Formats: sequence, C-alpha cells, structure tokens
Amino acid sequence: MSWKMVTRLVSLRVPTGTGKTLSLICATMTWLREQKAKGDDSVVDDDSDDDPDWVKESYSKMTNTKRHDAGVAYEKHLDELHKSSRPKVLKEHTFPNRKKLKSVTVELDKEQDDQFLLDDYHSDDESSAVTQLDRNSELALEIKSLMKKINGVKRDDGDLLDQATKIIFSSRTHSQLNQFSSQLSLPKFPSTYPDHSERLKYLPLGSRKQLCINDEVSKIKDITLLNETCLELHKPDATKKCPFYPSSKNEDLQELSFEFRDSLFAEVHDIEDLPQMGEKLHICPYYSVRKGIGYSEVMTLPYQLLLSKNSRDALGISVKGAIVVIDEAHNLLDTITSMNSVSVMVQEFELCVESLKKYLSRFTRRLNGGNRINLMKLIKIMNLILKSVNSTEKITPGKPIDVTDMLQGTTGDLLNIHKLDKYFTVSKLPYKLESYMSKEDRHRTPILFKIVEFLKVMSNPSREGKFFYDVKANGVSLNYMLLDPSDAFKDIVLESKCVILAGGTMEPIEDYYNYLFPYIDTQRIKKFTCGHIIPKENLEVFLVEGSDGYDFEFSFEKRNDTKMVVELGKSILGLIEKIPAGVVLFLPSYKYLSQVIETWKKSGIYDSIDKLKKVYTESSSTNVLDDYSTTISSGKGALLLSVVGGRLSEGINFSDNLARAVMLIGLPYPNAFSGEIISKRKFIEDQVMERTNDKRQAMEATRDFYENICMRAVNQSVGRSIRHRHDYATIYLFDKRYRKTSIQNKLSDWIKQRVSHGMSLKEIIKATDSFFLNKK
Ligand code: SF4
Repeated sequence: MSWKMVTRLVSLRVPTGTGKTLSLICATMTWLREQKAKGDDSVVDDDSDDDPDWVKESYSKMTNTKRHDAGVAYEKHLDELHKSSRPKVLKEHTFPNRKKLKSVTVELDKEQDDQFLLDDYHSDDESSAVTQLDRNSELALEIKSLMKKINGVKRDDGDLLDQATKIIFSSRTHSQLNQFSSQLSLPKFPSTYPDHSERLKYLPLGSRKQLCINDEVSKIKDITLLNETCLELHKPDATKKCPFYPSSKNEDLQELSFEFRDSLFAEVHDIEDLPQMGEKLHICPYYSVRKGIGYSEVMTLPYQLLLSKNSRDALGISVKGAIVVIDEAHNLLDTITSMNSVSVMVQEFELCVESLKKYLSRFTRRLNGGNRINLMKLIKIMNLILKSVNSTEKITPGKPIDVTDMLQGTTGDLLNIHKLDKYFTVSKLPYKLESYMSKEDRHRTPILFKIVEFLKVMSNPSREGKFFYDVKANGVSLNYMLLDPSDAFKDIVLESKCVILAGGTMEPIEDYYNYLFPYIDTQRIKKFTCGHIIPKENLEVFLVEGSDGYDFEFSFEKRNDTKMVVELGKSILGLIEKIPAGVVLFLPSYKYLSQVIETWKKSGIYDSIDKLKKVYTESSSTNVLDDYSTTISSGKGALLLSVVGGRLSEGINFSDNLARAVMLIGLPYPNAFSGEIISKRKFIEDQVMERTNDKRQAMEATRDFYENICMRAVNQSVGRSIRHRHDYATIYLFDKRYRKTSIQNKLSDWIKQRVSHGMSLKEIIKATDSFFLNKK
C-alpha cells in the first residue's frame, strides 16, 4: 500500500486480519525514511530568508553532514547497547545512587492530618486572576514547568537528532497500541544513512496509571487522584518526594533518564516493558520516556493524550508536520464528545457539600481567611444548584438547564467561578479534600474533581455545548455535553501533514464527514476501502426468521413478547447443532440479556442449548472469557451470551474456534429517551434547519445520526469473528429490520456483500450444515 502524504485526510476502511496495521507501518515509515534521507527534516533557520542562496545551500549542506555524523554515531551507540548481553544501562556500577534511592519511601498514609491542610490562599483579586486559557491549562502548565525542570540538565545531545516529522499512532485501548508495537519490529525499513543501518526509534507513551513505579502512588485507583498525588510529590515545598522522579537537581537521575531513553531505542519495546526498565534503572518511566520525544520517529499514545491540546502541550508533543494515524477510528466521535462533557449526579453534589462541611469543621481553625471564605462560597454555590434542581418542575431527560437562572439572586462575586477556579489551583482543594475523605472512607470515589469540571464549564460554556438534565435509574444528573466535536479536532487536522483515520468497521462513514470535518470539502478526503482478505466461501451471512416464517422484531416495544423469545431459543437450538466449537451471541442490553435467559430457563430451552453448547454469560462485572476459551480449547462447544457495546463487543479477538458463528439479536439502537440522545438530535435538527430551512431534511439527518450509532455497534460486534485470512465463520442477523435496504447499506461492505436473502429457517440450517461440512 502506498499513497502520497500530501492529502490532509485519509479515511481507511480495512477489515481486521487483512494487514491494516502492517500496511500503515510500512507505508508511513518508508515515506518518513525517504524524507529523512532527502534531508527534508533538516534544521531550518526561520530568519534566513534574506540570505543569498549559496549561503543557504552551504548552511543546509553543513547541517545535513552534521546530522548525518551525529545520527550514525548515535546508531553505533544503540548497536553497542543492543549487542551487549547486559546492556550498559542495566549494569549495577552505573547506578551510584541506587542503594540510597531504594531506601527512600513515600509515606502517604502517615497518620497526620497536616498533609490534608489547604495551601494558604490570600487573594482572589481579579487583576491577578489567571486567564481563561491558563485556567483550562492549569494542570498542563504545571506539568510543563516540571518537564522544563527535568530537561534543565542538558546532556550533550544537541538537537541535531531531533525529528521534526514523526508518525503519531493513536488508538483507544492499550491492547490495540500493544498490537501495533508488536508489529513494528517485523519489517525492515530503509536507512536514512547510506553507510549505516538505522534502528527504528519507537516511543510508547502512556499514563501514570500504566507507568508509575512508586508503589504508594500506583496503588491509587482513581486516575485524577493518582496524577495529583504524583504532582504533589514534585512540588519544591513537598515534604515527601518521589525517589524516582528525575529532578533537574539530581544529575545522576538526569543521566539515568537519558540512558533509559537509549535503551528504549536500542530495540522496539512494548509499553509493558517500561515499568520493568524503570525499576531496574530506578528512574520514573513516565517522565523518562519523554526524553526520547525529540529523537523518536514513531510514537504511540492513547486517544486521551493525543486529543487534548493541553496534554500534548504539557508533554511537548507537537502534531505540526506529523503523520497522525488514528486507529479504531469508529470510536473517535464518541471519545471527543466524552472528553469534553461532564455529568454529575444530584446526590454527588449533596455528598460533596457534606464532605466540604466536614472538612471545614475539622480544619476551620487552621485555615486562613481566604480558604475559609472560598470553602463557604463553594458550599453556597452547590447549595444554590441543589435548590434550583429541587424547585424545578417536572425534570425530564434532555430538559435544558439555564445556568444563569440557576445562580440567580446572588452577588456577582459569588458567581465568579473564574476566581474560584484560581482558588482550586492555588489551594489544591480538590486533591486535599479527596485525600482527606479517602482516608476517612477508603471506598469513596472522588467527586470534587468532577464537580470542579462542571463549575468550570458553567463559567465558560462552549457555544457548541449544552447543559441539560438526565434521569437515570439511580437519580437525576446535571450534564454538560459538547454537541459539535469538529472544533476540538480541528487543530490536529490543520497542523499535521496528514491525518489517517483507520478502522476495520467504520461504516457508516458519513458521520465523520458531517460532524468531524464539516469545514472540509469531502473531495479533499482520500477514501480507501478494501474488501476482506478471506475467500468468498469463508463467510456466509443469514437473515434469520423463526420456524414457519415467524418474523422476529426485537424493537423496544416488541422485544418482551415471550413467545418470540422462546421461538428465538428454538431457532438458535436448531442452528448451533450444525455449528462447531464457539458461538458468540450479542443482545442489545444487559437487562434484555437477563430477560432472555429467564424466559429460556422457564421454557426449558436454556437446558437444551446448554446440553449442546455450554452456555456462558457476560455480565457487566465479570469476565467469563477465560472459562469460555478453556471449554473450547478442550474440544467442547460453547455459547457466549454477550451484549452489544459491552466488554466483549470490542477489542477482543474471537478468531477461529472462538467464534465459528456470530449471532446478533435485534438492532441495538441507543436509548432514544436519554438526555444525551435527545439533546444531540435536537442540535442536529437545529443545525440542518439553520442551513436548509427544510424540516424533512432535518428529520432525515437526525434519523440517520441515530441509526448510524446503532449500525456502528452492529458492525463492531459482528466484526469480532474472522480475524485472519484462513479464518471462516457464519453470521446470523435476527430481526426483520435487517431486510431493509437502508439498514443493509450501513453494514460493512464485506458483510453486506455476503448476505443471503429469502431463506427459511430450514434452508439456513441446511446451508449452515453444508458450510461447516465443507470446512472439515
Ligand atoms: S514521578 Fe513517576 S514514579 Fe514517581 S509518583 Fe510520579 S509517576 Fe510515579
């Protein structure tokens, strides 16, 4: 596969098992090395425009020679590291401070409450308040300043080896990123240097949760609290320090973090190797890995780090001129929306008020005036919010919240969330309060971080966002949701050289064009779709009806029909008799899954199915995958009952015997009455009306949006089987709505092309039998 990296946007739809990742690696890396060899990555002096051409030429030549020499020298150094049976960085004698460092431990559980005391707060004078940008970037700037300090001690590396152009690969889950890194070492790439080979400089970036090696910190379950705790330990005035943090004041640690980088580049390492390398070197992998950002050619990072500008800035990652590959891109719209949205339950506000009062009464005499006033303001704001909720008549899902109205009747000062936000940063209230409360109740989930986020958006809501109520099983929530994700992704599109959205099951693709890149002419988006690598006879897709032509329809209104559920069980029984090994069956929700099981048990069908294939049931809390796999490995058949959008519907590889068949029951539309869907549909309707003033078009657009969410989930779930070129399976779709052309058009091409039409249950059972007989 090859294409010119001049196109800004590429959408790549390639089914799993067809070599998508490897093709992306080969195409992008080969291009990158070619550019480097041409000297396109050379250091350019921005002020040199007025210089004569011969000066520019000789400067460029000189720089390229220097880069070449430095590059080859560095490659030789990496070769040495690689050759060594015990790499230099891992030898004991290189760690003069190891013993000393090992004896230092962080005592976070020290039985003293002083650690929970707020930092003194003296002024919330408007003139000294931070700007909005600063407020949003507070944590980012803090990390940035720490990173500056880390990089303060400059080893003699220069910037000659810095790569201006990089490949940034991002995916949603760690397992997907690991899969990428496992394929990186398979191909051999051309070297930039004609006279020396070149190693692939790959950098896996991850979160503190993944990389922290300080036992006292890494055991903290809540990610925000874990991050805050780490940051706390680096403050100049911190009484306890993390011994692994590569402080700028400690040259030995600085040196170790450079050695960490070099040993990382000596061969391709998985992110899971990093904590071990950090432990051996006694250096924090989370911070040290960033020493390699300049030199790296390929970086992997989770969506959260790539999609947040603050995080990118804090880590010193620039997308300028980079090739950004976003894998499993079907998640992109949802991820951007959820990263920019916040939801707080009413009872969480109540709990937070209670906690603040408790904290205030415990420390009131030891807090200065600024702290006491602001704590009381915060309690007052939350009480006002609660009062407004309690006085609101008929709260329904999607009901808009008027935040100005919510805080009405108060003084302007109280409403100044801008000042409060500054206060949160200076006093570190969220961190201190949550640490104190979790000491009191170890099972408590931190909530103030979330509430602070909510208050921040209250003070500065985006034009593209909306506040609304939602009513859930456990109560009422107050929500803010970003309705238009295009702005949040724009800087990546405009700054990078090329953005590649890749995925196995990205259909229906139109949502990306309409909602992610509405400002880009679709002609400028290069689309590439390829069929499945398997031969046609390795997959068959059936639209199933019940015996005697019983029509299945598992819509929300009709799915409770007991007769239909029993009929479904009978059809499944007939089919699984002919299917070998494992069958994975997807239902629309956990609730419906329990309902189906109950009905089958009552009717005796469950036992009959269980006799033919051992039944395993996914639940939201347990993972049955190991037991299911063990039964199949032992040569027995098994049926796995799962949920669309549940833990097994994405990122799990049901190859070969693990899924000789996938069955999908119904169409998994999201809850049309949830506040989120109501708000989003209304937003789309308003947008289309504004553009076209055509009610019919507006209704069509909202229907499409709703249907597309459902069909993306269908494609994801059925795409769990067929994971390589020799794999084979059958797919069964149980619902008469799958017969609609509009629905079939939204199936992935490789599924749609194989749908068999107009077959009775008997014919499908027969066809299933001969399909698997032919595979023996
Ligand atoms: S510096 Fe590193 S090891 Fe220390 S607490 Fe922070 S993430 Fe953990």
